[in-house]
Amino acid sequence: MPSHRARVLLLNAALGPLDYRVDREHDVVPGSIVLAPLGPRQIAGVVWEADRMPSDAEVGDNRLRPLAGVYDLPPIAAPLRRLIEWTASYYLAPPAAVLRMALASASALDGGRTVTEYRATGHVPDRMTAQRTQALERIGERQGLVRELAMAANVSDAVIRGLVKAGAIEAVTVAVDDPFPIPDPGHHQPELSKAQHEAAGALVAAVKAEAFQPFLLDGVTGSGKTEVYFEAVAEAIRRGRQTLVLLPEIALTEPFLKRFEARFGHVPVAWHSDLRQSQRRRAWRAIASGEAMVTVGARSALFLPYRNLGLIVVDEAHETSFKQEDGVTYHARDVAVMRGHFEGCPVVLASATPAIETRQQVALGRYAELRLPGRYGAAELPEIVTVNMLDTPPPRGRWLSPPLVEMIGQTIARQEQALLFLNRRGYAPLTLCRHCGHRFQCPNCTAWMVEHRLLARLQCHHCGHIMPPPRACPECHEEDALVACGPGVERIADEVAALFPDARTAIVTSDTLWSPAKAAEFVTRMDEGEIDIVIGTQLVTKGYHFPNLTLVGVIDADLGLSGGDLRAAERSFQQIAQVAGRAGRGAKPGHVLVQTREPSAPVIQALVSGDAESFYAAETESRRAANAPPFGRYAAIIVSAEKQDEAEETAKRIGRTAPQVEGMAVYGPAPAPLAMLRGRHRYRLLVHARRALDVQDVIRDWLGGVDWPRTVRVAVDVDPYSFV
Ligand code: ADP
Ligand code: ZN
Repeated sequence: MPSHRARVLLLNAALGPLDYRVDREHDVVPGSIVLAPLGPRQIAGVVWEADRMPSDAEVGDNRLRPLAGVYDLPPIAAPLRRLIEWTASYYLAPPAAVLRMALASASALDGGRTVTEYRATGHVPDRMTAQRTQALERIGERQGLVRELAMAANVSDAVIRGLVKAGAIEAVTVAVDDPFPIPDPGHHQPELSKAQHEAAGALVAAVKAEAFQPFLLDGVTGSGKTEVYFEAVAEAIRRGRQTLVLLPEIALTEPFLKRFEARFGHVPVAWHSDLRQSQRRRAWRAIASGEAMVTVGARSALFLPYRNLGLIVVDEAHETSFKQEDGVTYHARDVAVMRGHFEGCPVVLASATPAIETRQQVALGRYAELRLPGRYGAAELPEIVTVNMLDTPPPRGRWLSPPLVEMIGQTIARQEQALLFLNRRGYAPLTLCRHCGHRFQCPNCTAWMVEHRLLARLQCHHCGHIMPPPRACPECHEEDALVACGPGVERIADEVAALFPDARTAIVTSDTLWSPAKAAEFVTRMDEGEIDIVIGTQLVTKGYHFPNLTLVGVIDADLGLSGGDLRAAERSFQQIAQVAGRAGRGAKPGHVLVQTREPSAPVIQALVSGDAESFYAAETESRRAANAPPFGRYAAIIVSAEKQDEAEETAKRIGRTAPQVEGMAVYGPAPAPLAMLRGRHRYRLLVHARRALDVQDVIRDWLGGVDWPRTVRVAVDVDPYSFV
């Protein structure tokens, strides 16, 4: 019998679920995507089992408003509904905020098979303005909605519409329901080595079993982890089941698409923030219908409504960029494992430098471990050598030590490529006045303004605030007294240009590789030997495979060790091991030079000796001793407000009402290390608890009993990765 009442979770994070009347013409089941009236508006939502989603507003049958409609889309399946509940509860987020990630393409909900997009015709109108010139220049080959083109060109919608009238931009009809081609599992199957074959066999068997099983695929850089999990993907395709591959950065999507196409004959469906609305809509619908066989994406792809998921892969699973820091603060690696649990499918975490959390799951027998001990084929792991910056320092005001300069020279003389790694964007991290000592600070954040010489401006890396490079000091008005302190990648590039004037260099950071298309262009230039020396941030440390890259120089290995973050040593190890892993992936051997002032530090020793095991063992023991994750757990409570006293007052009130719970300690409140961020003052409390404690439940009760003004924001970060 059709129910006459439906509980609906609406896409409004401020609201709990509401009940509606279901009229006879509508047929709904749990998971149905519906349109419901809310005040004068109509808003999308999903029908939920009433007993799993308590409502705080019980309304009598006679006062219920009727549902406005039911979308002609597959219902959100039970495993995804369970995942949404779990995520909301574990990360203390409103269920509607999690649901929003599943219904990520609002436009996908509406019917219609075509979308009108716009693109340049090449015709230049007689009447040109500065705005029109800028628009046409920036639009280039781009195609999209008027709004998307206006955003890309940084002009108003009216400018774009004017260009349409003038014939410089034309409308094109895009079919959004075109099917995606089905990847061919047998298109180009590689011959696997013995170790690869064994690992692939275990994964294929798990895909066949159609049951939950987490794996750690632990193989050194270049061991062929991708080829191995591709075999599991092939098996899922053969069985008609969908695969989701999560990558840590959208910049890695493009090279992945190429590799996938070489193996399977077609590219997979891509999902990331750079998609046009029509692409997003096409992908969403194909994912929901089950027709998108393989989807590759950044963490937001995790909550999409796959119809019959048979395999999840998290590549570079140790990457901290899987941790979402805004809005719902979830860790995509951990949620991926939960999704596999609810869907009943295997989950593969692939990494050359697995996180201690993941290793611990292996040690407990919860995850199966598959190992690939050596590089594929003739390639050898590169030798890692340190350069003691106290013994062989660079000349004053320079950052490349003589041994590194010599190696770079030899490498490019052999027509091989070199990569210099420094995890600092821009020219210099700090600018100060030599005369009065004034330092340029962001007006909105506790952070220095970073000089970006290529863009001729100072920029805050936290809030994006920019200012033109000043000529005179704003404090003492002395001219030409400003000095750049410390290096960023642009400064290293200057030094390289001075030392090797003929070398062709490229700077690779999120400033230069801001779209998948830019990343693809970089890969092509590297492959075709158009670049000799790359200077890059963490963006170049992972995923890439450049066979002719034989030298990696780490400019400052000590940089990541400051800061006192609980994962600092582990992260430094991972980052340097990953960037070292870019060297010597082809037939030619690779070399890695690590510049450090502390060659005897355990992290550096572990890298040089190749003895990762004892380093991990020592790190794991110190975590155990401190009852830090994965042995104990943390949750951060961050209180922020534009007015400092409001933030402080609320934080103190929360601190005073902290419950006394056995096995739980509360530290703070204290001003956060980033005491001001985007114009808001921040205070932090840190909850430290034993593993078995339901810390979420405790925090829910505790914060539920405290009131604060609407101008104050209280955010909870469960299992935090950032301690600022
Ligand atoms: P990882 O992901 O472990 O760093 P990759 O999967 O990128 O390693 O493999 C490194 C390189 O070796 C790639 O160019 C890959 O195509 C190649 N390779 C690995 N295994 C094989 C194989 N069995 N047959 C042919 N090429 C392989
Ligand atoms: Zn700022």
